[in-house]
Amino acid sequence: KMALNLLVPPPKIEDREYVKPYLCGSGPADVWPSVFEAYARKVTTPASDEYYHVLDDIRSGLQYVFQTKSKLVLAISGAGHAAMEAVITNLVAPGETLLVACRGMWDERAIEIAKRFGINVEVTRIPLYSTFSHEHLENELKRLRPTALCITHGDSSTGNVQKMQGLGDICHKYGTLLIVDTVVSLGGVPFLTDEWGIDGVFSSTQKALSGPAGISPVAFSARAEEKINKRKHEPPFYFDIKMLAQQWNCYGNTRVYHHTMSPPLLYALRACIKELVSQTLEKSWARHATTLAHFHKRLQEMPVTFYVPIPEERLPTVTTLVLPKRYDYTEFCDYMRTKHNILIYGGVGPTAGKILRIGTMGMNATIEMADIVADAILDTLKALNKSSL
Ligand code: PMP
Repeated sequence: KMALNLLVPPPKIEDREYVKPYLCGSGPADVWPSVFEAYARKVTTPASDEYYHVLDDIRSGLQYVFQTKSKLVLAISGAGHAAMEAVITNLVAPGETLLVACRGMWDERAIEIAKRFGINVEVTRIPLYSTFSHEHLENELKRLRPTALCITHGDSSTGNVQKMQGLGDICHKYGTLLIVDTVVSLGGVPFLTDEWGIDGVFSSTQKALSGPAGISPVAFSARAEEKINKRKHEPPFYFDIKMLAQQWNCYGNTRVYHHTMSPPLLYALRACIKELVSQTLEKSWARHATTLAHFHKRLQEMPVTFYVPIPEERLPTVTTLVLPKRYDYTEFCDYMRTKHNILIYGGVGPTAGKILRIGTMGMNATIEMADIVADAILDTLKALNKSSL
């Protein structure tokens, strides 16, 4: 018998004490109890009809959540970045032009993803606290005639929401496809894919849908579908929408294996959608808006400034705040975590060290939760007020 020489001994893997804080940053958000239950369902496989029923439920649910009648609706196995990469690389070929309307961290990621794929990237920028006027974008479209425009609906790095209504028509005048990031807005902020002429949209589950990360919804318009079917370039294999559409049985006649999807995540996404369907989109949007109004009313009584100056442009799911100079952002978040068991974040990317980011989304979008967070912020402002020492 040959002795096998194991170079690596088994490691000690011990569970640690972990008190989960309230997840009140810009995501992930806390997960609905019904979604936790859904995780633990029996694993289904493509060998069963149940598997395809789950995919059908998710697709018809996503048609509702995105408000699209398109058949080309599915979820990518991966986080929001994976869906971003899938939408960009399926719609824009290497050498074609992508215009990125940049006002935060996620647009920077889109730029990076597109560049690595050999896409010619053009960027137009505005101050991070602001949003794009449609005139500004139309001038750029007229000048560049890009294959696609990529823009973020709700930006979790800056806390503002971009007006989308009417932008699709403007893009189509110049033969441009409109790609939109709804990772931190879908379900929490009104979004109408077909009505607004959106061609490629991607999202996530861990924000306003209050699910686990790792499975990311996408949808494509008829225009985008035509581009995908006629394109000459190959997107990355794992993100090939033509193949994924077959796996997801988008046209009702294919049950094809592409890669092994995660059944617990499929059930979790289905449960997120069930929550939204039973609440209805309108009520979910209203709940987020009411929570935000209450939260901001509380904040207005405190010595903090809203990073986004125009109230109508403030994102219902993520609030961004500027603290008086005497406070340190890291210390502030640490105190919230240790004394109040509430997780909030400082800035990220271009806003690092400049703002606080606080989420009121998904199952945390309630008046009770807004009060818990506002009380904790008030206490932290008092406790860390160095000028009063
Ligand atoms: N876009 C936006 C607007 C986001 O908020 C995030 C995540 N914070 C992403 C994209 C990236 O998503 P993920 O971390 O799931 O890859």
